[in-house]
Amino acid sequence: MDLLKIEELKNILLNYHNIVFFGGAGVSTESNIPDFRGIDGIMHEKMFHYPVEMILSHSFFYRNPQLFYQFYFQKMIYLNALPNDAHHALQYLESQRKLTAIVTQNIDGLHQMSGSEKVYELHGNIHKNTCIGCGLSYSLQEIMNEKNEIPICKSCGNIIKPNVVLYEEPLDEKTMEQAIKAISTAEVLIVGGTSLKVYPAASFLSYFHGKKKILINFEKTPYDKYADLVINEKIGKVLKEVVRLLKEEI
Ligand code: NAD
Repeated sequence: MDLLKIEELKNILLNYHNIVFFGGAGVSTESNIPDFRGIDGIMHEKMFHYPVEMILSHSFFYRNPQLFYQFYFQKMIYLNALPNDAHHALQYLESQRKLTAIVTQNIDGLHQMSGSEKVYELHGNIHKNTCIGCGLSYSLQEIMNEKNEIPICKSCGNIIKPNVVLYEEPLDEKTMEQAIKAISTAEVLIVGGTSLKVYPAASFLSYFHGKKKILINFEKTPYDKYADLVINEKIGKVLKEVVRLLKEEI
C-alpha cells in the first residue's frame, strides 16, 4: 500500500467534514459479489449467450422473463454476502459526522446492512420487489425459488419485478435529486469501486464543485485526471487503514 497516499487521504478526512462517497460494484467485491467490468466481472460471463446489458434490460425482462430470472438469481443475488471493510469504514465516517451521504450504484443493500443511514441507491435494491399487475410488495426471500423460475404474484398472478433499475429504464427522480444535492454541496467527494462507465450515474460527478476529489479503484477511470488523489488499491484495505489512522487522531 502507498503509505504516503494513505496519509494524504487521512489528512483530507481530518480537515474536511462534508464528505460524500460515490461508489459502485467494486465496493462489494471484497464481500465476494462479482462486479461487472473488473477482472472477474460478470461482463465476461459466457453462459447465457446474450450480452449482460441485454439480459438486464427492460425490454429483455418483458420479452424473456424466464432467462432474465435465471441470470438474475444465479449471477446477481448473493444471499449470504456480508458488509466488508469498505462498508464498515464508511459507516464509521458517517457516525463521526464526517460522511454526509453515500451515493451508490450497487443494488445489494450492504451499506444499509453495515448501519449506514444516508444511502442513495441510484439503481434500486434487490430486497424490494413489486408485482407489475397489482403493485403488491415482496421481499427477496419471498421471490426466490429453487428452480430460478419467474416469481408470480400470489394475489393477482402477474409477474413480480425487482425494484432495480434495468438498462433502458430511468432512474428514480427523488433519489436522483437527493444524490445530486449531496454531491453538489459536498466539500470532498470520494469515488470508489466503479469503472464510471454506466450513465447517467457517472455523469453525477460533474455536480461536484467542492475542494477535493479522491478516486480509489483498481483500474484507471476516465475521471482520474480530474482527481486530487488517485489510489489504485483494494478499497476495503485502503478505507480500513485510513479509519485506523483517523481513530488515533480523533
Ligand atoms: P463495474 O463493474 O463497471 O466497475 C467496478 C470497478 O471497480 C472496476 O474498475 C474494478 O477494477 C474496480 N474494483 C473491483 N473490486 C475493487 C476493489 N476491491 N477495490 C477497488 N476497486 C475495485 O461497476 P460499476 O461502475 O458499479 O457499474 C456496474 C453496474 O452494475 C452498476 O450499475 C451496478 O448497479 C451493477 N452491479 C451491482 C453490483 C452490486 O450491487 N454489488 C454488482 C455487480 C454489478
